[in-house]
Amino acid sequence: MSHKPIIVVGAGLAGCEAAWQLAQAGLEVVLQEMRPLRQTPAHRTGGFAELVCSNSLRSDDATYNAVGLLHEEMRRCGSVIMKAADQCAVPAGGALAVDREAFSKTVESLLCQNPLISFKREELKTLPDENQGMYILATGPLTTPELSEQVQEATGQKDMLHFFDAIAPIVTADSVDMTKAWKQSRYDKGNGDDYINCPLTKEEYDRFIDELIQAEKVSFRDWEKNTPYFEGCLPIEVMAERGRETLAFGPMKPVGLMNPHTNSRPYAVVQLRKENKQGSLLNLVGFQTKLTYGEQKRIFKTIPGLQNAVFVRLGGIHRNTFICSPKVLDETLRLKSRPNIRCAGQFTGCEGYVESACVGLMAGLFCAWEALGKEIVLPPPTTALGSMLRHITLDANEDCFQPMNINFGLLPAPQPIDGKKKIKGKERKLIQSKTALNDLDLWIKKAHINEHPR
Ligand SMILES: Cc1cc2nc3c(=O)[nH]c(=O)nc-3n(C[C@H](O)[C@H](O)[C@H](O)COP(=O)(O)OP(=O)(O)OC[C@H]3O[C@@H](n4cnc5c(N)ncnc54)[C@H](O)[C@@H]3O)c2cc1C
Repeated sequence: MSHKPIIVVGAGLAGCEAAWQLAQAGLEVVLQEMRPLRQTPAHRTGGFAELVCSNSLRSDDATYNAVGLLHEEMRRCGSVIMKAADQCAVPAGGALAVDREAFSKTVESLLCQNPLISFKREELKTLPDENQGMYILATGPLTTPELSEQVQEATGQKDMLHFFDAIAPIVTADSVDMTKAWKQSRYDKGNGDDYINCPLTKEEYDRFIDELIQAEKVSFRDWEKNTPYFEGCLPIEVMAERGRETLAFGPMKPVGLMNPHTNSRPYAVVQLRKENKQGSLLNLVGFQTKLTYGEQKRIFKTIPGLQNAVFVRLGGIHRNTFICSPKVLDETLRLKSRPNIRCAGQFTGCEGYVESACVGLMAGLFCAWEALGKEIVLPPPTTALGSMLRHITLDANEDCFQPMNINFGLLPAPQPIDGKKKIKGKERKLIQSKTALNDLDLWIKKAHINEHPR
């Protein structure tokens, strides 16, 4: 049984969640973070749980959307990330989007109020050995190259795995021309007016696609050349190169929208979503890009409504580093070669804010149980938590391991009754989410999670 404080490295989404879960179990924690002394290529602040790109935690629908189901499971496990997200939500249709500054401050303040958690602003330069106590490594996709190299050596992996992630631009709300744009959510979901839409005619869309394809892009360095993109977060210019209509059927699809200035449905739209509670900043939804800064300003200003847009952040692209979890982690997220170290967050090959936090939550719980000499009870694979864990530690193919978002395909398919046809679509999701929440509640009870919240 360990009585030394447990060290969690990285105060991102996973690290904050892990530290919180450890403290909820009554254990002392030191949360170590290198920012602002050393910044990553994507973070801007020294704040905890900084969201580096979109301000959305995606769909909050716990019945028909797997990430919404994960939200609900995490809420039931007393997640600090979900608590802060719910407190800092901004209107976003069916999605859970947050005011990123308020969100980061709320997470930080909840952790600071807990007497069992202390903080250390220092970069971890050396991977701890077996005698240094229990660690959770939650250093994220932008883990310092020096530390990545040491993990590489400790796990015997020749190359860490990499792919690219991209950031979407942000504009000020008062610089959007509302004589051209209008407020409306697709199919009037949520408050009905959570998004601002900039409409494009067929001619405008075609010109925009030509510009994207011809635009100057940020060139790759040698080590980046063989790195693939994550398919769920492709830069818009890559989508345009794959097919002229890809964007019109993707982030620019005009379905469920009617332009009140012309009383017609536009050919395509660019949607803007609130970045902060006040609504003074807006995010270009799905517009992650690796165009040069100059080209972004020039081309995005050709979009009707954005001709005078003031960009407070431009899009960017960064390498994403992760370990081959099915090869190097055991089922409780410990490095097989260094069992005193658990890994959490995007570094383990899950993908997304919520998924990173969920792996942090499990790493925190497992580490707490181990430190307290308790049995480690894994979440059932029928839950979103359990299916994510099982995928990264067991089921994924280690020869071509790629980061994974939560999705219903990871959960077991419901069995057809009495030789009936396969259960599909909405009916399948409904059964899967009901089973998941039922089995999650049984697991919470069995493992005594959240019984004595501090
Ligand atoms: C550029 C980019 C854009 C992304 N956009 C999105 C998006 O829009 N939506 C989405 O769902 N997901 C996105 N992701 C993916 C992922 O969800 C986020 O990266 C998420 O923040 C990962 O959470 P994490 O806790 O694992 O890592 P992070 O949140 O990055 O936290 C890791 C922390 O560890 C610290 N750290 C690193 N090395 C050390 C060290 N040696 N010593 C001490 N501290 C260290 C870092 O400073 C950081 O604070 C993006 C990723 C990248 C790289």
